[in-house]
Amino acid sequence: MATSNPESSAAPAAEARPSNFIRDLMVEDLKTKKYGDAVIQTRFPPEPNGYLHLGHAKAICLDFGLADEFGGKTNLRFDDTNPEKEEQEYVDSIKTDVRWLGFEWDRLCYASDYFDQLYAWALQLVKAGKAYVDDLTAEEIREHRGTLTEPGKDSPYRTRSVEENLDLFVCMKNGEFEDGSRVLRAKIDMASPNLNMRDPVMYRILHATHHRTGDKWCIYPMYDFAHGQSDSLEKVTHSMCTLEFTDHQPLYRWYIEQLGIFPTQQIEFDRLSLTYTLLSKRKLLQLVREQRVNGWDDPRMPTISGIRRRGFTAEAIRNFCAAIGASRTNGSTDIEMLEHFQREDLNKRVPRAMAVLKPLKVVIENYPEGQEELVEVANNPEDTAAGTRQVPFSRALYIEQDDFREVPPPKYYRLSPGKEVRLRNAYFVTCTSVVKDAAGNVVEVRCTYDPASRGGNSPNGRKVKSTIHWVSARHAITAEVRIYDKLFTKADPGDLEEGQTFLDNLNPNSLEVIADAKLEPSLKDAKPEERYQFERVGYFCVDRDSKPGALVFNRTLPLKDTWAKIEKKAGA
Ligand code: ATP
Ligand code: MG
Repeated sequence: MATSNPESSAAPAAEARPSNFIRDLMVEDLKTKKYGDAVIQTRFPPEPNGYLHLGHAKAICLDFGLADEFGGKTNLRFDDTNPEKEEQEYVDSIKTDVRWLGFEWDRLCYASDYFDQLYAWALQLVKAGKAYVDDLTAEEIREHRGTLTEPGKDSPYRTRSVEENLDLFVCMKNGEFEDGSRVLRAKIDMASPNLNMRDPVMYRILHATHHRTGDKWCIYPMYDFAHGQSDSLEKVTHSMCTLEFTDHQPLYRWYIEQLGIFPTQQIEFDRLSLTYTLLSKRKLLQLVREQRVNGWDDPRMPTISGIRRRGFTAEAIRNFCAAIGASRTNGSTDIEMLEHFQREDLNKRVPRAMAVLKPLKVVIENYPEGQEELVEVANNPEDTAAGTRQVPFSRALYIEQDDFREVPPPKYYRLSPGKEVRLRNAYFVTCTSVVKDAAGNVVEVRCTYDPASRGGNSPNGRKVKSTIHWVSARHAITAEVRIYDKLFTKADPGDLEEGQTFLDNLNPNSLEVIADAKLEPSLKDAKPEERYQFERVGYFCVDRDSKPGALVFNRTLPLKDTWAKIEKKAGA
């Protein structure tokens, strides 16, 4: 795969990139001048019936990213032919999300802008004897359609005269018929092995108010009659869509050929599917409606707005999309791979901080009461330009409950009675005793410190096996921390036992709220969307619910990178 290809090296995008058959096709089309001197023109065509998710991010990176590589252009086109499901709120969120991902469209288009043109083209096909009004019910049309093994049957209305069809279609448009009473169909071939070619419906009657055209129309074009022609009107040279549209391609081409309009081409690629994740607007909408999550931007949601709120970065998502590329067969991608790209990006860019999520008090008996000092800490060990900061240290501290065991299990090297550990950037401390409550729980750990170990440096070459983080109790700020886990318990949330729905695979423990985490005081002014690595704990992002004095952090990801391990194993 990685062999040098003299043809693609002639392309503007000559750097090494994961292979992508669509890029190869673009290189070829430019070379053969398939579209003359026109630049690559693509479009991203969401239906505004929900918020964008990670699957859309993949499509966006292909549509915008590939056009950018070749100096081409990309339109954002709302595929708004379904008035009952579409809303302005979705249009707005889609624009925000595309921009957040780092892309800017050339033209902002709406399929509904083409309703007049599409209607004119429908009339043209009726006049040419290539479309007819059918009075069969939806149910009867389905029955007449046949199956993969049996041809369909002609509708008794298929032989209507051009005049009658014209008259009826105009009446349909003028609102003279009820919803569902008639449709306009293309006259193609009821025996075609491709079911999409068995006289597909072009227009349906629907007295519904459209979010942009209001009540102007009571007939609406079907996806297949709108999509290709919209591409053609925008002179799209490469119209990318997911594999389930492969069987629609002959119909896409048929309309364009019959109408003799700009010959755009449809190219199908694999749908992104991630483990432990559902990428379907319909199902995500159900989670929102049934309040299984707190809205479209709940940080557990795989929506762009959800992962943004959770602290993911556009760069990481673009890098992930570049790495998965595009192929011609559907598969499933490990969620750990996306998380790996996210950790890699955050590790490089975000400042470190010390935070204790589940605090246990430590008192240093030989550290004078009332004394305090500042210790110098690197803001980002991966980036010296990030500088250092001063963190206060004093006699009473908090450490993580997990970093202490009264009775340490084998190979437990953190704090326990009689053991010495390093407090990160500060001192070596040795546990001398514990204080327990009436129920016998350890509520305080007593230690002594070695003043010669200042800065966390070993005095006289003495070794400790563990370094733990801490926050000075007197200086700590208390914050709410929201810990997210996978939204579904199964790698394939659609894997159901009898009588189950995908809701049965929801993880009941996907959100844990910690009300009283203790943070170092430098975080006092942290603003929504700011990101940090809490040392030894994970990556965190300030939530938009956060307020001065009542900070709220979302855990973006824990530190552990299982994907790096999987990759290492696979490579070994
Ligand atoms: P959903 O089933 O979630 O509603 P959709 O395909 O109906 O998705 P559209 O708004 O019609 O959503 O999609 C806009 C574009 O995004 C289309 O080109 C579609 O093929 C692409 N797309 C949608 N889901 C995915 C996915 N999981 N992977 C890659 N591309 C996707
Ligand atoms: Mg759709």
